[in-house]
Amino acid sequence: MTKRISSPKVTNDVIRQHKFTLKKSLGQNFLVDENILRKIVEAAGLTEESHVLEIGPGAGALTQFLAESARRVIAIEIDQRLEPILNETLQGYENVSVRFGDVLKMDLQQVITEECPPDVPITVVANLPYYVTTPILMKLLTGDVPIQTIVVMVQKEVAGRLGAVPGEKSYGSLSIAVQYMADPEIIMTVPKTVFVPQPNVDSAVIRLNVRPDKKVEVADEAFFFRLVRASFAQRRKTLVNNLMNNLFSKDKKDEILAVLNAVGIDPGRRGETLTIHEFAKLSDHFQNLIN
Ligand code: SAM
Repeated sequence: MTKRISSPKVTNDVIRQHKFTLKKSLGQNFLVDENILRKIVEAAGLTEESHVLEIGPGAGALTQFLAESARRVIAIEIDQRLEPILNETLQGYENVSVRFGDVLKMDLQQVITEECPPDVPITVVANLPYYVTTPILMKLLTGDVPIQTIVVMVQKEVAGRLGAVPGEKSYGSLSIAVQYMADPEIIMTVPKTVFVPQPNVDSAVIRLNVRPDKKVEVADEAFFFRLVRASFAQRRKTLVNNLMNNLFSKDKKDEILAVLNAVGIDPGRRGETLTIHEFAKLSDHFQNLIN
């Protein structure tokens, strides 16, 4: 086993030795607290059978812990400059493979097919780059990879959005996507002080337990998500305005009003007041309008 990197001293030493400059724009805030790392791994409930997908291994602090608890770890890192560091910190961890590229552009299904036996459930564990937390979670939740559990560090404010309900300020399309697929839980909040460099915000570790059944049944999942996103596009606008501007077109106003009427939803309501069940009902009714 290589020396653990999860302390401020070792992380700073490695960064200095490799003359690595951290990029704020890539969300490079490395975790340097062994206790928190252990708790993250514990929350993921890993066994020696687990196959883990890590997004953004950075200098490898979390990756080392994952490799010690799981059968296999596939780590996707956008910043190729980290390769020499990861070669050093992950030396001897034979069950890790690092792939360089943007997770948002990668065909994750293909990566998993190449790296894992068929049909194994995947656990995602990561200290996510905060500038792309929402698109990453949306990709994981609405993609084809058979994900069982997601345990990730996110901004504290984002953690609040995951379990938010209609009427709450933080309720939005991320809340709906998450609750459609999974039961969200906040595992712990995490202070800024356990990162190098310290971010501007506090963080939280969350767990999403992906359910075998979806919360609601919809005829066309992709359309359901487009409808949800459009309904929240401009939060202060009414549902009918958002749908005209962001999903259909202005000349469809009468049809939109007719559908809202048929479903029993007041067109003056805002997206943020609709439950996931109302969105599902609307989605199925609007199908006829687009087909
Ligand atoms: N896992 C490390 C840790 O806990 O110390 C580093 C976490 S750091 C918050 C986020 C990492 O994600 C950085 O290494 C960054 O380069 C990487 N990253 C940023 N954007 C990414 C993207 N689109 N795809 C893959 N990795 C990304």
